[in-house]
Amino acid sequence: MIEEAAKLLARSRFAIAFTGAGISAESGVPTFRGFNGLWKKHRPEELATPEAFRKDPYLVWEFYRWRMDLIRKAKPNRAHYALAELESMGILKAVITQNVDDLHREAGTGNLIELHGNIFQVKCTSCGYGEYLKESGRLEEFLAQSNLPQCPDCGSLLRPDVVWFGEPLPRSALNEAFRLAERADVVLVIGTSGVVYPAAYIPQIVKETGGRIIEINTEESGITPIADVFLRCPAGEAMEKLMTRIKGLI
Ligand code: NAD
Ligand code: ZN
Repeated sequence: MIEEAAKLLARSRFAIAFTGAGISAESGVPTFRGFNGLWKKHRPEELATPEAFRKDPYLVWEFYRWRMDLIRKAKPNRAHYALAELESMGILKAVITQNVDDLHREAGTGNLIELHGNIFQVKCTSCGYGEYLKESGRLEEFLAQSNLPQCPDCGSLLRPDVVWFGEPLPRSALNEAFRLAERADVVLVIGTSGVVYPAAYIPQIVKETGGRIIEINTEESGITPIADVFLRCPAGEAMEKLMTRIKGLI
């Protein structure tokens, strides 16, 4: 199985990766399914919604500060680094992720499409203001305050620049992801349940346009029935083995 996956990648013309929360599980960032009750007994679906933010922005901001703090302490794992290495080897052309944790960027991936935003990015609820807290140097300040964060330009409420349940995906990122999927002859799908649409269309598009699907997951997912190679294995271990085989082929 690993051998077949390695051959597909080594011989590919335009390979892409599509990742979900499972790739970051070994970095200590819980998946949504592994999440339940982790923060004050709330389910993410009760907090990561526009309705929750309208009703109780303090609660939602408290949750996001907790998550930002957890995620900023997390480090990329072997799977994130392997994808960055595959890109530098010229095999992987892009990583499309549903994660908001910034770990692909930290690992060195250059062509990164973030379909669900980035937890370190905030935006104004009224004007066009946006800020990437890791770059502006205000992350510490942001985490230390307990009041509602205000827009420096217009004074309105700031919110995390992530896609909440029931919200549309950023159009340009989605279009770019679909364009890459149409071009790809191989997609490496790692750690996604494959049930959140429209993101879950990405492997389907690759398949429909004649490409192959390699899937890495500890469990079967919504994508498994159409996968050409399914590696039932934690992401870090699978990617390490895969890299060794690929290097033996090229
Ligand atoms: P999900 O939580 O629905 O599913 C995670 C998948 O990863 C499951 O199929 C599970 O079997 C698999 N998995 C768990 N541990 C694994 C491991 N060690 N190796 C390989 N696979 C493993 O995640 P999803 O499909 O990405 O769900 C979508 C939503 O969750 C997205 O909207 C995303 O924004 C959000 N989310 C993001 C993060 C993050 O940024 N790290 C974390 C939690 C949720
Ligand atoms: Zn503003």
